[in-house]
This record gives sequence, structure tokens and C-alpha cells, in this order.
Amino acid sequence: NVSHELKTPLTSISGYAELIESGMAQGEQAKTFAGEIHKSANRLLTLINDIIRLSQMDAPMPDLKFEPVDLAQIATNTFEQLEMSARKVDVTLQLDAKQAVVEADRQMMDELLYTLCDNAIRYNVRGGSVKLEVRPVRDKVIVCVQDTGIGISPENQEHVFERFYRVDKARSRETGGTGLGLAITQNVVKLHHGGIKLNSTPGEGTTFLVRIPLKYI
Ligand code: ATP
Ligand code: MG
Repeated sequence: NVSHELKTPLTSISGYAELIESGMAQGEQAKTFAGEIHKSANRLLTLINDIIRLSQMDAPMPDLKFEPVDLAQIATNTFEQLEMSARKVDVTLQLDAKQAVVEADRQMMDELLYTLCDNAIRYNVRGGSVKLEVRPVRDKVIVCVQDTGIGISPENQEHVFERFYRVDKARSRETGGTGLGLAITQNVVKLHHGGIKLNSTPGEGTTFLVRIPLKYI
């Protein structure tokens, strides 16, 4: 699977470069092909970064830097980062976050919220919405990402956390997806001794619920 995912963009880079080099493509066409090369190179870069992140997490002693992290603050930052992409697809963002400080790896928490919210926007519909809730409950923090998007069928719900699994390969590829986001998310949750589950109804939307303990024991 990994080799296929890596070869596809490389084949396209090599092919377009050859056309430009040989002079078969010129002017505007050469420019378009250069754009394709750029796109595939970026895709490859994202992919390689994700694969490296995953292998680092698989290490016997993953390098986690635990510190107090306010998930409400991270939620606010995440929405700021995603505001533009949400606006482009006419998706409304709603935030309901109460201060919730956990002992966690900050970069991983950034990644966790970003991945879930990015998906909630990416697999949404025009005019849809994404609601992000963060609240402390006793000895843990609950993060809830609820969207009004396309949903995930029960058959696919079992697989979305698998590496490279994408329900709609075409749509995911078009939007730059690699199918590693949720695999990384699940690892992050495990490394923090938390939990993640999802509820979804096709055509109505999806809710991801994450639980992170306040203190890592
Ligand atoms: P990337 O690695 O760039 O995030 P991706 O979005 O395709 O790529 P994941 O985030 O792991 O990969 O998600 C896996 C698949 O699960 C997606 O391709 C999509 O089909 C489905 N999915 C994830 N989140 C949602 C959601 N909120 N609504 C509907 N489908 C979703
Ligand atoms: Mg994703």
C-alpha cells in the first residue's frame, strides 16, 4: 500500500517532467504540466511527513513531550487556521470550549484537533456546519467534533482509522487526502491513554468523540 501511494505521484512527476524536457509540451501547456509536478511533489511531501510521524509513534519509546496544554486554546487556534478553508466551501464553524488543561504533547494535540476539524470541513456539504466542543468532565477532557456532512456508512466506519483507508478515493485525492490522518489521530489518543469513537449517519453527518485523561498515569 505504501509503495503504491508513493509511486503514483512520482510516476506523474516523472512523466510530466519528461514531456517538458523533450519539448513535447511548450508554452501554456508546459506551465500546466509544471503545475501538476508541483502538486504531486507537495502530495509526496505530505505523505512522507505523515509516514515519518507514524513510524516515530510506532517506536518502542516514542518521543513525547508532556506539558500542561489547554485544549480550549488549541481549539481556538485550530478554528483560526481553518477559517479560510471553511469559508471557501461555505461551512460554518461553531466553537464551544471551556478551559480544559491536560498533561499532553502540545504538537500532538494540535494535530489531533486539526485532523478532526479538517475532515469535518472537507467531508461536509455546502451550507453545512462544524461544531467543536471542549469540556472537562471529572478526570478527563471530552473533545467533540460534530459535522453535518456526507457521513460514513456502518461498513466504512470500521475502517476509517486504518492507514491509507479512504471511503471515496477520488474525492480524498482531489482534496489532497492521504488516508493517514485518522490513523495518526488514533495513535495520538492511545499514546495519551485516551479513547476515540465515532457516530455517523450517511447523508446527515458525523460526530467524533475524543477522551483525554487530565493526567497521564
Ligand atoms: P488525510 O490523511 O490527508 O487526512 P484523509 O482525510 O483521506 O487524508 P483520514 O483523515 O484518515 O484521511 O480519513 C479517512 C477517511 O475517512 C477519509 O478519506 C473519509 O473518507 C473518511 N472521513 C473522515 N472523516 C470524515 C467525516 N467527518 N465525514 C465523512 N467522512 C470522513
Ligand atoms: Mg483527513
